[in-house]
Amino acid sequence: MLLRLRRALPPPQLEAILALARDLGYRTSFVDESKEFLRLNGAGAAHHPSRFEDLVGVAAVLDRGGARELHERLSGQPDTIVQAHQARFGGPHLSLIAGPCAVEDWEHLLAIAKAVQSGGAQLLRGGAYKPRTSPYSFQGLGEEGLALLERVRSATGIGIVTEVLDPRDVERVARVADMLQIGARSMQNTPLLKEVGQAGKPVLLKRSFGATVREFLLAAEYILAEGNSQVVLCERGVRGFDSVTRNLLDVGAVAHLKKVTHLPVIVDPSHAAGRADLVRSLARAGIGAGADGLMLEVHIDVSEVHSDGAQAITPEVFGAIAQDADHIAALDGRHLTGTVGAPRSR
Ligand code: PEP
Ligand code: MN
Repeated sequence: MLLRLRRALPPPQLEAILALARDLGYRTSFVDESKEFLRLNGAGAAHHPSRFEDLVGVAAVLDRGGARELHERLSGQPDTIVQAHQARFGGPHLSLIAGPCAVEDWEHLLAIAKAVQSGGAQLLRGGAYKPRTSPYSFQGLGEEGLALLERVRSATGIGIVTEVLDPRDVERVARVADMLQIGARSMQNTPLLKEVGQAGKPVLLKRSFGATVREFLLAAEYILAEGNSQVVLCERGVRGFDSVTRNLLDVGAVAHLKKVTHLPVIVDPSHAAGRADLVRSLARAGIGAGADGLMLEVHIDVSEVHSDGAQAITPEVFGAIAQDADHIAALDGRHLTGTVGAPRSR
């Protein structure tokens, strides 16, 4: 590791840095005569750079050396492949998650599950616990919603992705879900991130609409640091200054993330667009930027949706997006899970 120290450091501040280095098992040497650059030699661990950043005498950690963070892609390191039920994300595999915004009732849930399953989805989405901006909006069916998800899983065989909002609910949600969703509003809820890090289930982590890419990666790091390596990142749009779309889909961040982390990255064009008529275009853009899959809000009766109705697409549009995704992925030798060798039609 290489540290840049503040100039004219008072001796106690310098001693604090050297003492921490010794405690963490590093040998230290100054690179320059003015003692501004301090080289730390030793094995290093993911949490060490932040320890030094917290010290008043350290201006910057210039090179983390072997103290890599767990999300980082080392040179030549292949993608982590995350598996959730029949879905595979990463490497050559793309998967699709589709379903209603919220679990509403049995009839709709079953019909949507069957429709998206036959359209190419490996996982059904649907919130039982909904993170709504207003406390007066529909908050989801809670435990009753979880029971419906469990029932639709056994009826159809499709895997389940559903959001957990409260650390106290993680165990209960993990009993039903094949993948735990952390929503945009919860991205920096560190007790929740730690809890899902220990839940033994893959995690779908959505980027907060106000988070930088670095903050997004450090949220993932919380989960990884608990020993859970099965994390999929989801770009769902950040807050922009225009209202033509609900959010701004940050495709640049998707392309960047694919370089700097080995974790799979998917795109949610539904919450990015906020309008059904743009979802297909944004889905294409996401896969084109390198995403390992999509999460889409689909409903069979778009006039009856309880939440996020304006962005719900029909199963027909979903089917068209699935075909698009397979075609675009094929440009760089990737494919939708379950379609290897299957004939492609336009
Ligand atoms: C969702 O996917 O159900 C959702 C609430 O989205 P976000 O957390 O991205 O707003
Ligand atoms: Mn929604």
